[in-house]
Amino acid sequence: MMEVRELTKRYGDKTAVSGLSFVVRPGRVTGFLGPNGAGKSTTMRMMLGLDTPTSGSVLIDGRPYRRLAEPLRTVGSLLDAKGVHGGRTAYAHLAGLAASNRIPRRRVDEVLEMTGLDPATARRRTKGFSLGMGQRLGIAGALLGDPRVLILDEPVNGLDTEGIRWIRELMKSLAAEGRTVFLSSHLMSEMELTADHLIVIGRGRLLADTSVREFIASH
Ligand code: ADP
Ligand code: ADP
Repeated sequence: MMEVRELTKRYGDKTAVSGLSFVVRPGRVTGFLGPNGAGKSTTMRMMLGLDTPTSGSVLIDGRPYRRLAEPLRTVGSLLDAKGVHGGRTAYAHLAGLAASNRIPRRRVDEVLEMTGLDPATARRRTKGFSLGMGQRLGIAGALLGDPRVLILDEPVNGLDTEGIRWIRELMKSLAAEGRTVFLSSHLMSEMELTADHLIVIGRGRLLADTSVREFIASH
């Protein structure tokens, strides 16, 4: 279980996130919905320990999350799939990530299989990858450490309906294994296809914390 407690982030005199509190439970897919600029990425960066809160805290199973002490094995993340589009092959990218995180190399083949990247695609340089292939590779990287918690920023961005459904099935099966799955989107239409539960924010503040079904019924 992941808990965000009274989280606030200011950039100068601009407040990006304001007194935000919510709990992300294991066993279901939680969507993080809000328009562009609402503070989703800022919140997720703080949840990952990549950015320091102005105040408030982030807890995993009741303990503060320390990124350096617990690398890829506790939390897998996808923040910016553009970072994947380098000159290396998809396989080399994942093999490099595995090596630097002391993850066995055979796990690379497992995550390639899980994300539907076939061997021919894995041998191609990521430079020529489509947005969808880049997102799949980013998710493969997030899964590499077999983490208990997954935090994915706009993972269905640019995917077609079939790709969105594929992500939903993958995320649902990961949640069904008891993992905590948290993913953001600025589009409710995408959340309907991917999430079970919703955390909705606007201007850095919590607007709703409810099941997708209830959210649809009340809007
Ligand atoms: P979202 O992910 O929901 O689109 P962000 O978290 O990226 O929203 O941004 C929330 C607000 O914080 C925006 O107004 C954005 O301009 C601002 N912001 C984000 N990062 C920075 C930064 N490094 N410096 C200044 N302002 C920032
Ligand atoms: P870089 O461009 O970073 O040098 P390479 O494409 O040369 O990366 O590959 C790095 C390593 O990964 C090499 O040992 C290569 O043989 C291996 N490799 C690359 N693609 C595959 C693949 N599809 N299956 C197995 N091994 C691969």
